[in-house]
Amino acid sequence: MNIDGMKCSRCRQPAQHRLPSHNARFCDKCLGIFVRRQAEKAIKQFDMLVPGQKVLVAVSGGKDSLALWQVLLELGYRAEGLHLALELGDGKFGEASLEASQAMAQRLEAPLHLFNMAEMAGFGVQEIAWANKRSFCSVCGTLKRYYLNKACLDLGFEVLATGHHLDDEAARLLGNLVRRHQRYLDNQWPTLEGAPGAFAKKIKPLCRLRGAELKSYAKSQGWSVAKGACPRSKGATLPYYTEAVRMLEERMPGTTINFYLGYLEDKGAPPAKPEMEARCSVCGMPSFAEECTICRFLENTRKRESTKRDALKDQG
Ligand code: AMP
Ligand code: ZN
Repeated sequence: MNIDGMKCSRCRQPAQHRLPSHNARFCDKCLGIFVRRQAEKAIKQFDMLVPGQKVLVAVSGGKDSLALWQVLLELGYRAEGLHLALELGDGKFGEASLEASQAMAQRLEAPLHLFNMAEMAGFGVQEIAWANKRSFCSVCGTLKRYYLNKACLDLGFEVLATGHHLDDEAARLLGNLVRRHQRYLDNQWPTLEGAPGAFAKKIKPLCRLRGAELKSYAKSQGWSVAKGACPRSKGATLPYYTEAVRMLEERMPGTTINFYLGYLEDKGAPPAKPEMEARCSVCGMPSFAEECTICRFLENTRKRESTKRDALKDQG
């Protein structure tokens, strides 16, 4: 629907989308051009991909990763999808995520690789979180990073693209600055180099685009996307920083992109390539300790489950 008789800043046709951060208004077609250009700019600016390169897109079923997949294909990259079923104890969220990912694969006529995290780990997130006395969210995040990386390497891809956008990155940056998490700040960059057989190269081509801009894009495309927050994310602190960034952006349009890109500009260079001399003695993935975090998590879970089984046997 056209808003207030506004005209598109590019083609002067009736505009449907307002982008205050860029002081622009776009029709559906020109919004698509804008989204592609911003992704292309990020890809070049941060050395993400070479023309026509093969890339695996981590597709959650949300608007961001769906948009990313389509845009990468439109830009000529050989992009395939990877969906990791998470089994979060709320069937509906997981089902909607899978359905939206599969519908997109059909529309794009591109392969979607399906993995199940509980099957890969041998336990559900909740069991692992209990056994390790950790919060559900932090365990889920750690497992997700590990298994997305593993699936990417197993499928023979060197690059993994995620749908993190500008608001995500700015909120994470703000949180890390407030808590002075230097190790995370050191790694804050939209491209993280990989290491053969250990880490896929990680890229975030939507890092110049706001969540609201991607929402308008998804709407203009008429997609059905998996909506809503993860049902298990209560207690996570990131939403507070996201809210703070949104408030600043609303009062002072353009703040988010200046904050985030300005920080990267001051930093000047990407983080060093990952060290990978030490390997986990169990799974062979890079690890500073003898056993990596994931293998330690799983070992503790196995112990807890076997203690539970013994207790049940004693009772019965
Ligand atoms: P989130 O951390 O949920 O905001 O997700 C950030 C990005 O991680 C998404 O845009 C996806 O690229 C990726 N991602 C998250 N969850 C999944 C999943 N279950 N399967 C595949 N990719 C995912
Ligand atoms: Zn390991």
